[in-house]
Amino acid sequence: MEVYSLTKADWEGHLAQMGEPQFRAGQILEWLFRKRAERWEDMTNLPAKLRKSLGEKFPIYPLETVRESGAGDTTRKFLFRLKDGQLIETVLIPASPALYGEASDRRTICISSQVGCAYGCKFCASGLDGWKRNLSAGEIVGQFLRVEALGGEKVHNIVFMGMGEPMANYDNLLRAIEILNAPWGVGLGARHMTISTSGLVPGIRALARQPLQVRLAISLHGATDEVRSRIMPVNRKHPLHDLLSACADYTRLKKQKITFEYILIKDLNDAPEQACLLAGHARKLGAKINLIPYNTVEGLDWQRPDQDRQDAFLAIVRREGADVTLRREKGHDIAAACGQLRLQVEKSFAPAPPLN
Ligand code: SAH
Ligand code: SF4
Repeated sequence: MEVYSLTKADWEGHLAQMGEPQFRAGQILEWLFRKRAERWEDMTNLPAKLRKSLGEKFPIYPLETVRESGAGDTTRKFLFRLKDGQLIETVLIPASPALYGEASDRRTICISSQVGCAYGCKFCASGLDGWKRNLSAGEIVGQFLRVEALGGEKVHNIVFMGMGEPMANYDNLLRAIEILNAPWGVGLGARHMTISTSGLVPGIRALARQPLQVRLAISLHGATDEVRSRIMPVNRKHPLHDLLSACADYTRLKKQKITFEYILIKDLNDAPEQACLLAGHARKLGAKINLIPYNTVEGLDWQRPDQDRQDAFLAIVRREGADVTLRREKGHDIAAACGQLRLQVEKSFAPAPPLN
């Protein structure tokens, strides 16, 4: 049983079974999430005998750091090895423009939710090798704990924009968010967490009915079914009309603005009529738009449009009355930094050392 996957209620249940008082749950959680102890023997206010049996039942596995790149005020990337040898990457963005909520001028972590991705968007490196498995809640929470420990500083925002489709790992994601959010857990405000999805309508609808005030970003990348289906197979299952109606529900139920992410890809989705339609979708929902110039991926033929073409697209969206930003800064580019995890692992960390 993985310690970072367990909620307060879970601990209380396990302790009751072991014949231990309930207040031990609070003590354990304080060691794990406040004091960040990584060994049972360090939890000195627990009786030695209990520490021993907990250690046997609940071994603690902090993520193992394989490589790290970037330092100082640039984006830092961490390659972690999971218990079964799978590799995932987590990105720490030191400070970024106000893109994801009011506090986004502070440190943001970009977290992976799966090993690989099954959705196969044609422009994305994360899905190139297919899907391997879901991350457990503990492996999701573990990325936050490890990066804070390695960075030596508090992290203020979480974006679920790393490898994988968070909505396809909904139960573990929600459990991780509960632990990250809870006062007995990490204690980070739900408004400081953003889930990015390629458009899984059932997940959006389920999240809309959740009381947590997490933010939602939609990877739109096309303003018509025709364009969207060309690059995102998920659009055939959940076409634009259904997606936008789920977004409207989310906005209404949460009383929250959502964000549309729109990668600008040359000759694919950068035409003036796409800009008009995109602006229309956003205006109807009061959504914000993040335009992101495409980051080329080795092995894929897509290009980013030139600067003039990007500016023209931006100007049309703005003229049509939508709230829009075009990202220009390199290292601070959240989606680009995390959207290509697998590739960047290979590029900046390769070759990974053999597993033992
Ligand atoms: N699966 C989720 C979250 C992970 S992808 C989703 O698709 O939303 C995070 C973001 O990075 C998405 O908006 C994705 O479209 C974007 N992205 C993927 N590849 C990219 C690339 N090469 N350049 C820029 N952004 C990219
Ligand atoms: Fe998966 Fe998101 Fe990449 Fe699409 S963009 S392949 S959903 S990680």
